[in-house]
Amino acid sequence: MTDQKPLLQLIHVQQLYTSGQRRFVAVQDVNLAIHEGEFVALLGPSGCGKSTLLRIITGLQKPSEGQVLYRGTPLQGVNPYATIVFQTFALFPWLTVKENVELALIARGVPAETRISRTLDLIDRVGLDGFETAYPRELSGGMRQKVGFARAMAVEPELLCLDEPFSALDVLSAESLRGELLELWLSGKIPTRAILMVTHNIEEAILMADRLIIMDKDPGRIVAEMPITLTHPRQRKSLEFQDLVDQVYALLAGQTQPEPIELGSAPGEPGKTRALPRITINDLAGFVEYLNEQPGHRADIYQLPEDLGIDSDHVLRLTETTELLGFATIEKGDIQLTPLGETFAEASILARKEIFATRIRRLPLVRWLLNLLRRAEENRLDWDFVLAALELEFPPDEAEQQLDILIDWGRYAEILSYDDNQGVIILEPVATPERAM
Ligand code: ADP
Ligand code: MG
Repeated sequence: MTDQKPLLQLIHVQQLYTSGQRRFVAVQDVNLAIHEGEFVALLGPSGCGKSTLLRIITGLQKPSEGQVLYRGTPLQGVNPYATIVFQTFALFPWLTVKENVELALIARGVPAETRISRTLDLIDRVGLDGFETAYPRELSGGMRQKVGFARAMAVEPELLCLDEPFSALDVLSAESLRGELLELWLSGKIPTRAILMVTHNIEEAILMADRLIIMDKDPGRIVAEMPITLTHPRQRKSLEFQDLVDQVYALLAGQTQPEPIELGSAPGEPGKTRALPRITINDLAGFVEYLNEQPGHRADIYQLPEDLGIDSDHVLRLTETTELLGFATIEKGDIQLTPLGETFAEASILARKEIFATRIRRLPLVRWLLNLLRRAEENRLDWDFVLAALELEFPPDEAEQQLDILIDWGRYAEILSYDDNQGVIILEPVATPERAM
């Protein structure tokens, strides 16, 4: 750490949002300093407030509380020294690559004489030489994102902010663009003084950054920081690298909490309603079976994306689901099936449904829906009605997702049914045990 003044500093930053009728803390007490020469990666599960922080840092949004200092001075309005590159960069489809980049220079008032040569230079630097007169529709996703980078560089930001810049690209384009960005950054060919990259790709963060900041959600907050001192070029397969990946997974997957904390509260109760993880029954069953086949019925979470061929976000949602259902516990980056999880893995289809039904009845959101249905006329409710109720708890997109999950899980557990044509959710009568004569 230098004793220089930080380029950017967040002091006790807090962001409240309103979702439905509820105010919630999206970002809680964030303190963060970014120094010149640093490449910082911000990691954390979806919804932990990463994009919110980037908007606050670039001045696109004023935090509910706290201070944002740029070179020691409180930020007023949009930060002219910072730029964001988003996941998918919006290019003007009717302009060529050259015109798209040049536009950024025009916006900055760069005189016409130098504009063309600077534009061509930028295009060259991101490796798009030869595509100056192509239109966005003629380019691959990776190439379009390069134009986005060129445009961001044209602004010559001191602080370059990247919001999941590679996540919409195919594997190869992402890898080559990472390489090119690192090369630009490490060689000092760009005037950028610091980079802040949001990602949920753990390996990408360790590959590129000098320091990781790890966030968790509910409420969104920083839970750990980790310096990465490996020299470039970094070797993904090296032991040191893999060891870091393991450590980060351990921090992100967290520890299994006592049940009341783990489950959260139901809508209408005090406390935050815990959203159900976006996981299908198929994936859940496959995952539990997989764990059951592993030696000791356990696995290192960091190895799961490669072993299962899915991304880290998906893995973390799976581990969260098994944990929520009591099928597994998580400690220090390992996931271990519980006896209940083993029973589930080995059970018949019917027995599985029963176990699953018992487990999800404990979840506050499921309890809440079943209560609503019990009180409803004929134990039926319109989908729209339930959605509207969920929108008091969650933002509209998420409310709909939550309802989809509730219906998917509830149908499998046979505790409710759903009539697709009429858009009606119906409570299943509780089966009375048959008596043997
Ligand atoms: P991330 O980028 O880490 O996925 P975001 O910063 O986008 O997280 O969002 C953090 C939380 O705040 C999420 O629960 C999201 O639904 C919510 N949120 C984001 N923007 C708004 C907004 N403008 N109004 C209300 N809620 C929001
Ligand atoms: Mg985001």
